[in-house]
Amino acid sequence: MKKTGHFLTLLIAMLWLSASAAGARPTVVIDAGHGGHDRGGVSGDRYAEKIYTLDVAKRLRANLRSAGYNVVMTRGGDYFVGLDERCCIANSRGNAIFMCIHFNSAPREGAYGIETYYYTRQSAGFAAAVHSRLVRATGSMDRHVRTRAYYVLRNTRVPAVLAECGFLTNRAEGGRIAGSGGYRQRLADALASAIRSRY
Ligand SMILES: [Zn+2]
Repeated sequence: MKKTGHFLTLLIAMLWLSASAAGARPTVVIDAGHGGHDRGGVSGDRYAEKIYTLDVAKRLRANLRSAGYNVVMTRGGDYFVGLDERCCIANSRGNAIFMCIHFNSAPREGAYGIETYYYTRQSAGFAAAVHSRLVRATGSMDRHVRTRAYYVLRNTRVPAVLAECGFLTNRAEGGRIAGSGGYRQRLADALASAIRSRY
């Protein structure tokens, strides 16, 4: 009788522990930059940024879902979603992280490389993980982790990182991003690896 009691206590403890461990894994809110009338980038760009942010976001979603994560997209197609709504999607969940995907543009065609942004201290480690993996996966220039008060970083209450995954305005880098599904898959896998390493 006593043994059964101990066994039940142990069983309940194990169930509780596994339930809380599963609960500890955050929902990943994937934010594909721009969309709809907002093409992103700069006017006259060869490539529309919104197309490639969504493509990488979908690849990231597939990777994380196969790893058992709960994933939410702030947009799942080519339509406009305001910045405030994007933040609300993340903030409406108690336990979430926010992964914002962009591509860079510059007036100087020669500019290329990876930049990763965060704003609040709680996101610093997440940003570092994203950045190092993107630089490694692409072999592109390390333009460093930076802090900046971008709207979606300032107004999300969960760990939030914005990755600029390369310059569409650079002939070589833009060509790789736009021309190769394999390259975009590498970007998505690098982001997934960073998320999986920390959450
Ligand atoms: Zn952008």
